[in-house]
Amino acid sequence: MSSFLSKFIKKFKKNAECPEKEKCIEILTLVIDGEANSEQKVYVKNHIEDCMPCNEEYEVEKAIRVLLQEKCTHMAPNDLLESIKTKINQSPTI
Ligand SMILES: [Zn+2]
Repeated sequence: MSSFLSKFIKKFKKNAECPEKEKCIEILTLVIDGEANSEQKVYVKNHIEDCMPCNEEYEVEKAIRVLLQEKCTHMAPNDLLESIKTKINQSPTI
């Protein structure tokens, strides 16, 4: 019984691995960043329906982008403004 289970898990794990993961992630990232062409968009859309690891990767990458965007809009303006002001004050007038 346990050997059946381990065979099943092995089979499942094998299926859960993407044969072209590096290529997939590269294209995934392009799509998330909005730099993919329509062919690449279609590829990712079709691929992540069947490929769980890439599906997860896609969600993770998307979540990271959302987090970064939130951080930027919440934190950056004042700090950025201050550092720009400081730089302007520090640089000699021409
Ligand atoms: Zn994949």
